[in-house]
Amino acid sequence: MTTPAHRPPPDVRVHRQPGDGWVECACGHRHWGLNGAAGLLLWRSGPAGTEIVLQHRALWSHHGGTWGLPGGAITDGESPRAGAVREAAEEAGLPTAAVRLRADRTLVHPDWSYTTVLAEAVAPVQPAVTDPESLEVRWAGLEELDHLELLPAFADALPELRTMLRRLVLVVDAANVVGSRPDGWWRDRRGATARLRDHLAHLAREGVAASAVGLPGTSWLPDVVLVTEGAARGVPAVDGVSVVSADGSGDDALVTVVRRLMGDPANDVVVTTADRELVARVEDLGARAVGPRVVRH
Ligand SMILES: [Zn+2]
Repeated sequence: MTTPAHRPPPDVRVHRQPGDGWVECACGHRHWGLNGAAGLLLWRSGPAGTEIVLQHRALWSHHGGTWGLPGGAITDGESPRAGAVREAAEEAGLPTAAVRLRADRTLVHPDWSYTTVLAEAVAPVQPAVTDPESLEVRWAGLEELDHLELLPAFADALPELRTMLRRLVLVVDAANVVGSRPDGWWRDRRGATARLRDHLAHLAREGVAASAVGLPGTSWLPDVVLVTEGAARGVPAVDGVSVVSADGSGDDALVTVVRRLMGDPANDVVVTTADRELVARVEDLGARAVGPRVVRH
């Protein structure tokens, strides 16, 4: 392991911080980042198809000259998500406010881990080289990935990552989920629905396990639409959870929401309900359904 490609970064590295350093991993390789490492996969869908931000790695760096994602070592006490966003701001000028986290995928080694954080650009973003770790950072169409020399670990992860350039939208049948557990909700339907909403806001911030919603990767941070009816109507929206109050049938309102969401191919629409008739209706529209357990607190 004395080839030039394995040299540590030279002094031009401008943001030394706790967590920088090599790990000798039991897998037989050494990896950068004492607390593990993380990278940001920022995507946008436009008229030319889906594009992602790629970094052309500085020649002195590990696998220099290849293309990968902005990212780096996680600092002490930092989450992989926060680390990926910070590194992307430092290395590629990606403004935090324009980055909406959507999902992540963690590759676990015996002594190290790497988390790819997938995010959607929700405002115009012009990537720029902002430190010596990059030769270039720019938007690239997915078809370009077949022609660029990619960082080997990124190339390995790419088949799965390509299926994750989407947003999870959870559409929650409030009456069904609240009614699925006999906890006294019938005494205060609205209060029970507000508690469900607050738990959904927590899931929107922290994420749901990918396996629970049948998606690739490790976890997903959903957009949530809570559909209420009857006595639960009027529960206000909160950050991360929008609320649709049905005037009549909650099922009809939910189907209308799903039909609208299915119009955007970047949406992966998952409905939480145990109502079989409703499941059939949303599956007819191309959405998927999961049981209430996924969103119950
Ligand atoms: Zn390893």
